[in-house]
Amino acid sequence: MSKHQDHHHDGDDGPLSKLPVPDDVQDAIRTLIRWAGDDPSREGLIETPARVARAWKEYCQGYAEDPGVHLAKVFHEVGGYEEIVLLKDIPFQSHCEHHMATITGKASIAYLPRSHVVGISKLARVLHGFAQRLQIQERLTAEVAQCIWDHLKPQGVAVVIEAQHGCMTGRGVRTPGVAMITSRLMGVFLEDQSSRKEVLSLMGY
Ligand SMILES: [Zn+2]
Repeated sequence: MSKHQDHHHDGDDGPLSKLPVPDDVQDAIRTLIRWAGDDPSREGLIETPARVARAWKEYCQGYAEDPGVHLAKVFHEVGGYEEIVLLKDIPFQSHCEHHMATITGKASIAYLPRSHVVGISKLARVLHGFAQRLQIQERLTAEVAQCIWDHLKPQGVAVVIEAQHGCMTGRGVRTPGVAMITSRLMGVFLEDQSSRKEVLSLMGY
């Protein structure tokens, strides 16, 4: 392998490219490669176990954080704004806990503030904090909603996630293009039909 290729691959390894990977973790990935039918000692696969291990550390970096911390800083001066705040179609990636296959999709997150708001990007940070773990879509949806509910104490929270599951599109029944939709509504969005209709229509549902 040329120096140039080495350098290129380092770049592909992302922010954790220097993270040491224990031997037992690399061995586990070699075992999996062998089980899949390939030879982990062939040239193209030599560096793969360390790369896969670092990639998984990155996919799962949500375990290292409490997503609620992103909601700690709130703004009380809202200029009398008492309407829905919505962050729509946030792209995300997660992994299903049943196959460790990718879940890719978009989430819409809304809340009806009581007396304070958060910086809008923080809602996406909460989503990624829970998405960067082994998940099922139903729990991801519920965890994002509950986190916002607990930390902001708003009048209502609505989370709708639409995602494709690699374990379904790439294997098994092979149904590319099929999306799964989950939702979690709390407070006024659960109890009041016109509020629910308003938030879902803002989201495009
Ligand atoms: Zn799965």
